[in-house]
Amino acid sequence: MKTVTGITLLLLGTVTVYGQKEDYPAPQPMTHEMTEFWTPQPKVVTPGKSNKKEFTAPPSDAIILFDGKDLSQWEKAPDKNVLVKGKDLSKFQSTEGSNAQWIVKDGVLTVNKQAGDIQTRQVFGDFQFHIEWRIPEGIKGESQLRGNSGVFLQGIYEVQILDSYNSVTYANGQAGSIYKQTAPLANAMNPPGEWNTYDIIYTAPTFKSDGTYRTRPVVTVLHNGILIQNNTQISGTTPYIGLPQVVEHGKGPVRLQAHADESAPVGFRNIWIREL
Ligand code: MG
Repeated sequence: MKTVTGITLLLLGTVTVYGQKEDYPAPQPMTHEMTEFWTPQPKVVTPGKSNKKEFTAPPSDAIILFDGKDLSQWEKAPDKNVLVKGKDLSKFQSTEGSNAQWIVKDGVLTVNKQAGDIQTRQVFGDFQFHIEWRIPEGIKGESQLRGNSGVFLQGIYEVQILDSYNSVTYANGQAGSIYKQTAPLANAMNPPGEWNTYDIIYTAPTFKSDGTYRTRPVVTVLHNGILIQNNTQISGTTPYIGLPQVVEHGKGPVRLQAHADESAPVGFRNIWIREL
């Protein structure tokens, strides 16, 4: 038996050594479906309701990123592909200083899909970040094409914003997912027309000299006060198609997504950050 196995291994070895490269099928190009999983769907948890109509004001040491008045803390974001090639995201913080062209009205910041993503002028390492977002009442569309936006931590790691209230999509792409990586622990959505909050605690990665992670980026997220990401390690960038890429970088901006779809644009208010 041993002899037979030995011969078999020898034959296999021969094939490996002398076989033509063409003998092996070429790997198939990745499609977006390959990185999506639909089950299990996170359980639905109904957030507690506040009697207050107004939001809670930021703490005293917060950097105010949007207080309902203007977009002075924001700029038009550069092309994503250019951004992720950089070793230090702070070098890509500005697209010649061009102003963010999203819409500010009645204290609410609304996505302008034609104007592309926006990002903070300032760059950050570790931080606590707060944002409130609202899916328009009566929104139409399905799955990912329904109130899609997102918060990109240090410009490249997306915490998904989407209408996931009675609307199903792949679990690692619904509201509060680390996009295409980690589904949220719960579906804590408020219905369209009501405000949602994200409180995001983020620890930036450190890198080895070869550019790979020494420690990965780590994120904790509360959605409407409910824990949905608990010290989640981020594997790399969060592309629509393909696997996460590890890109060495320094501090980076907070980026908000203008997703190209036909659904009504998402609104934001009360955005602030505390450096840690
Ligand atoms: Mg998104």
